[in-house]
Amino acid sequence: MQAMVLERLGEPLKLVERPDPRPADGEVRVRVAACGVCRTDLHVVDGELPNPKLPIVPGHEIVGRIDAVGGRVDNLVVGMRVGIPWLGHTCGHCRYCRDGRENLCDHPLFTGYTRDGGYATHVVADARYVFRLAESGDDVATAPLLCAGLIGWRSLRMAGDGKAIGLYGFGAAAHIIAQVARWQGRDVFAFTRPGDVAAQAFARKLGARWAGSSEEKPPDELDCAIIYAPVGALVPAALNAVRKGGRVVCAGIHMSDIPGFPYRLIWEERELLSVANLTRKDGDEFFAVAAKAGIVTETASYPLGRANEALSDLRKGRLQGAAVLFVQ
Ligand SMILES: [Zn+2]
Ligand SMILES: [Zn+2]
Repeated sequence: MQAMVLERLGEPLKLVERPDPRPADGEVRVRVAACGVCRTDLHVVDGELPNPKLPIVPGHEIVGRIDAVGGRVDNLVVGMRVGIPWLGHTCGHCRYCRDGRENLCDHPLFTGYTRDGGYATHVVADARYVFRLAESGDDVATAPLLCAGLIGWRSLRMAGDGKAIGLYGFGAAAHIIAQVARWQGRDVFAFTRPGDVAAQAFARKLGARWAGSSEEKPPDELDCAIIYAPVGALVPAALNAVRKGGRVVCAGIHMSDIPGFPYRLIWEERELLSVANLTRKDGDEFFAVAAKAGIVTETASYPLGRANEALSDLRKGRLQGAAVLFVQ
């Protein structure tokens, strides 16, 4: 197999030849067709997340077909089209797993962070954390659903069912969740970096009622807001834009420090919370919704060997929609 490997934090990934991995009991091996490039991959590469496995193969938005099955796997067979998400394993017996909150498991493994991921021709996964996908479909277009879509969906659910919803940072997740929110009959207000008129036009094209700079106040009060950009300064901005009792959800795994802000911004029962990871139930719900809502993703695709370029384009904000690696 071939893989793009991070050997040391902060260095470019290297294309490495490795022996084909063999799935152990309870595991499957997947021949990767496409793997999305998520902002979290940048946080892994930059060393902003604690204790990554090194060397690591990043990538947790994987679409491919099963090409080998380990022992004691009875629900998956060779040839099935599947997706592999960020949540790679949970312990099943800590208080969070027992309470149906496996996203907060005390002893989890995460694909592309603490177990090898999908920037590769092959990946081995715990069979219990693999989603079965429709047999047909565009692999590149599907890949961003595995994290941008899925964690986007969890953050949308956590935001509540308010009609006027603000999305801060109009990248891979927001461009999918804007479509879901429109399908649900909500009004979307999209906030981008000041001056990013291309992203604002993109948001309007996807049905946003208003699109503007994150430094602006929207024309109407928001019921809720989700922050997808890793920028702490957006927290007081979003709190300032939501109504009394409104909710602000931080959807990223890492964010720059939140600046001090006056108490009045959170007064009147405004709520601020973060969303961590996903559960398998989120995945089952989201893939059903995505099919009904007719989500169309916008992607920029790169061959596997050009993963460093994809990461760099994401870092520089050069992308509209999502970057995806494909394996020929
Ligand atoms: Zn657990
Ligand atoms: Zn992700």
